[in-house]
Amino acid sequence: MNGKVINVAIDGPAGAGKSTVSRAAAKEIGYIYVDTGALYRAVGVNALRIGADTKNAEQVAASLSGISVDLAFENGEQRVLLNGEDVSLEIRTPQASMAASDVSAVPQVRDFLFDLQKNIAAANNCIMDGRDIGTVVLPDAQVKIFLTASPEERAARRYKELVEKGSSVNYKDVLEDLIKRDYNDSHRAVAPLKPAEDSVILDTTGFTLEKSVNEIIRIIKEKI
Ligand code: C5P
Repeated sequence: MNGKVINVAIDGPAGAGKSTVSRAAAKEIGYIYVDTGALYRAVGVNALRIGADTKNAEQVAASLSGISVDLAFENGEQRVLLNGEDVSLEIRTPQASMAASDVSAVPQVRDFLFDLQKNIAAANNCIMDGRDIGTVVLPDAQVKIFLTASPEERAARRYKELVEKGSSVNYKDVLEDLIKRDYNDSHRAVAPLKPAEDSVILDTTGFTLEKSVNEIIRIIKEKI
């Protein structure tokens, strides 16, 4: 690619709308959208498939042996491949969410996924979302945004999304799951969820999707 590649890092807690907002903003400005949570979910799904205890760091580290996790982009849509198999749907179950949160605390897992994220960002103008993109993966990103919203609003959004997909979940479980994942993600020893010092904090509580997308685009345009 000619010239300097532009990287936008978007971090924040579960259900803050990172993926929906990032995808829409990326489409509007012609960047690719990279959802790094999908990578941790794929490692989680692999661990579940082979019967590893996702809370056991040694078993999780061993589960990485011989596997491949990759991203493919088709018409701007990201697909996640586990050993070449498209697992883009399977990684979205509540079990996969919790497994992802568990395995993401294991340093070997973070190392395993690091180069893949770096290489994609080095080669493409992109909006990359996750938990540690601005702090660890892309510390030199030109734009860093920490996207958040109240736990209740985040749970309500996630609940609506799951119900629309036909899942029979209840709101209380979704809220509890989310609070548990937030706690895990912010208290782990490696790459905990926290805003990068040079990030713009955007609290979208009470925002429509359109307003969140417009705000993100405004921040990106202001910085570059
Ligand atoms: O973003 P998403 O909810 O799909 O991420 C699933 C899990 O993967 C998160 O709860 C978090 O534990 C982990 N994750 C991470 N670092 C990232 C992206 C996701 O630890 N960059």
